[in-house]
Amino acid sequence: MRVWVGMDDTDSRKGMCTTYLAKVLMERLEESGCRVIGLPRLIRLNPNVPFKTRGNGAVSFLIECEDVGEVVDVANETVLEMAELDDENTDPGVVFVNAENDELMNVLYKFSERVIRDIVSVDEALFIVGKYLIPHLKYKRGRGLIGALASVGAECSEYTLELLAYRKPERFGTKRVYDRDSFFLADLLTYPQTFDTVDWGNDVVVCVPNSPDPVLFGIRGDSLEAVFRAFEVVRCEEIDRYQIFMTNQATDMHLIREDEVFQLFEGRSYVLGGTVIEEPFEIEGGHVFFTIETRFGDVRCAAFEPTKQFRNVIRKLRKGDRVTVYGAYKDETINLEKISIDEVARIFVEVNPACPVCGRRMESEGKGKGFRCRKCKTRAKEKVRLEVERDLEPGMYEVPPCARRHLSKPLIREGREGSHPFR
Ligand SMILES: [Zn+2]
Repeated sequence: MRVWVGMDDTDSRKGMCTTYLAKVLMERLEESGCRVIGLPRLIRLNPNVPFKTRGNGAVSFLIECEDVGEVVDVANETVLEMAELDDENTDPGVVFVNAENDELMNVLYKFSERVIRDIVSVDEALFIVGKYLIPHLKYKRGRGLIGALASVGAECSEYTLELLAYRKPERFGTKRVYDRDSFFLADLLTYPQTFDTVDWGNDVVVCVPNSPDPVLFGIRGDSLEAVFRAFEVVRCEEIDRYQIFMTNQATDMHLIREDEVFQLFEGRSYVLGGTVIEEPFEIEGGHVFFTIETRFGDVRCAAFEPTKQFRNVIRKLRKGDRVTVYGAYKDETINLEKISIDEVARIFVEVNPACPVCGRRMESEGKGKGFRCRKCKTRAKEKVRLEVERDLEPGMYEVPPCARRHLSKPLIREGREGSHPFR
């Protein structure tokens, strides 16, 4: 029979990674006679939920097996051995879903849409598990069941790939050894079929994490060929094993369009159109804020310091500019991931008229008395309106790769010019 295995919340800030645990589990299941079908899937869920670990990613894969009971046993041993169960915020969950049950798969598809965009309670996951008698493993509070079910149900009509390379277990927690230049070269050779490997503008390798987990690096892309090409170019410490995942990263699947809802809720991510009503100002630490008027009322927007050069665009906004903002709504503020400058407002200032003879600005003769050039004695009645030159082009702008969230879609993937110096 065909069974989807879904799992989540096996890691903590101190270590482990659900993709790695899934990789080891797939190997063990294949050794025990099961067959893994196709690529495993790394599904990123709502990045704004409380309690999440770094990336809020869950994993699922499809297997052909004889006996689900045996699969459950192997999974249980693996989780008990490898998951960060001692961490108070790690609550693993694993589900084993009959892939031939169309009704259930449909329920999970709808469930996954909500888990990716909204905030869902563990009770809702437990309800589905109970109603459909889904074989499962629940550890501690079992919060991981939410992501486990969602990763099984997620539809990847639009997807990208990530090749995750893992470290030798004895090196977990130590500093990663890699050749920076080789990652820049890999990007140069394969971008934009691969993306977010490095950030040229900020001179950092983006795809090598700093956390103590087993991941050495992850190469993201749209084509298997390009991802493997980049993989061949990079130089680093010895790789223990690697795995390609299909993923909803870089697809904007988390974004809710404004016409889908009647009000904004904390912890969701939106696409909102509006007009600038309060001009950008900067607070200590380099965070830039402005306010737009939207169909939901006035909404504050923020480009935080880590978004780096992106703030240069934001600082140029002026009252009356029409924009569409993309980002998470937190503390009543949209945390910008992207912005579309839809219309740049024309701004005029009134100044004293210029003298037609010498060209200098005339001086006021007093209120309502007109203007006069002191030198040439020429006169004029009224001030003149001058248009202020705006150094802002309509178009889409995005945060640099070093600040990009997993789910956020790079502009280059939409065929637009992105924040890459060579494109
Ligand atoms: Zn003059």
